[in-house]
Amino acid sequence: MIDINKIRNDFPILNTKVYGRQLVYLDNGATSQKPLQVISSVAEFYSTINSNIHRGVHYLSSKATEEYEKSREKVKTFINAKSSAEVIFTKGTTDSINLVAFSFGEKFISEGDEILVCETEHHSNIVPWQMLCERKRAKLIKIPVDNNTEIIMEEYEKLLSSKTKLVAVAQVSNAFGTIHSTEKIIEKAHKFGAKVLIDGAQSIQHFSTDVQKLDCDFYVFSGHKIYAETGIGVLFGKGELLSQMPPYQGGGDMINSVSFEKTEYAELPLKFEAGTSNYVGAYSLLKAIEYLENIGLKEIAEYETELKNYAFEKLSTIPGLEIIGNPKNNSGVISFTLKDIHFYDAGMILDKMGIAVRTGTHCAEPAMKRFNILGTIRVSFSFYNTKEEIDILYNGLLKVKQMFE
Ligand code: PMP
Repeated sequence: MIDINKIRNDFPILNTKVYGRQLVYLDNGATSQKPLQVISSVAEFYSTINSNIHRGVHYLSSKATEEYEKSREKVKTFINAKSSAEVIFTKGTTDSINLVAFSFGEKFISEGDEILVCETEHHSNIVPWQMLCERKRAKLIKIPVDNNTEIIMEEYEKLLSSKTKLVAVAQVSNAFGTIHSTEKIIEKAHKFGAKVLIDGAQSIQHFSTDVQKLDCDFYVFSGHKIYAETGIGVLFGKGELLSQMPPYQGGGDMINSVSFEKTEYAELPLKFEAGTSNYVGAYSLLKAIEYLENIGLKEIAEYETELKNYAFEKLSTIPGLEIIGNPKNNSGVISFTLKDIHFYDAGMILDKMGIAVRTGTHCAEPAMKRFNILGTIRVSFSFYNTKEEIDILYNGLLKVKQMFE
């Protein structure tokens, strides 16, 4: 059971007053707030441990390196990777996808090959593949979704062929909250020898992840959406694939030896971590995961589902409010439009009541186009939200409607 009062005390920002009103933060899909355990760990790191990693033999450098590698080990168990060498630290989801698009693309994509992405993906999971396809004269193909925002499996299967080299899909859509059937998607792609990248930016924080069970080839996520600092993220890749891929960037830390005649690259994972990594961010990720594990991923998932269902029921009763998708399988996000009211107007009025929601295209313009809309109002939940906050949102939306009527 979630002890909501105790949890809310861990997040000082939740006490913020906005225009004299109590903040109601429902924009967790964009970024999560940070618990004191993470905030203070960063100050503690700089006060007692800080030194560049992997470089010095001195005490602080060894200590900082130890914590960095402890964080990698923690991520490994958190996502159930086979080995910590399969965990690469990056700047975030976008950086991880760009790394794969460049490095996997360099090695495995040639003219005429095909890459499939779902049509509701975040721009981060479209544009890097588009750039790769331009470089290699390969083809980017969209996987269609139905009116419920779910991938149409029969259409997906029709698109797969021996030309398909990679499929890239979010486990949870940031625009609509749809949980895609990633296990099935992966299984079907593998039958054609295609590799699969799962964008976990909106799933890692909501339910437990098992990359071995999923059998995905790559899995990516951002630290800032899972209660850690900004500027740290993860790329998981199967060891046998990562070891065949060329480095993404050159520089310090990613080498064994350098000479003008020949440079030898480091083994995994350092081959992909050129330059000074965000080792303080990695420490914050370690603390964030420890924090989540203390609460329990199962408890978090149950509580957030209860919140989402409550919000779903309440919001559905508002006349003129249309929830996009209404998928059976939805996590953490509700995206909707209000008849005849522009989402920016609604968002600005809600803001004046202290309610933070996201409005617009959610970095998913093709997804909006698919549903013939300019954008939506999106509320996204965390385990620190409450039913009372959903009531405040509900009343806020009624006021918005009144103002326009
Ligand atoms: N993919 C999805 C599904 C996302 O929700 C986001 C962030 N909104 C990203 C990718 C990009 O994440 P970041 O900006 O942290 O790199």
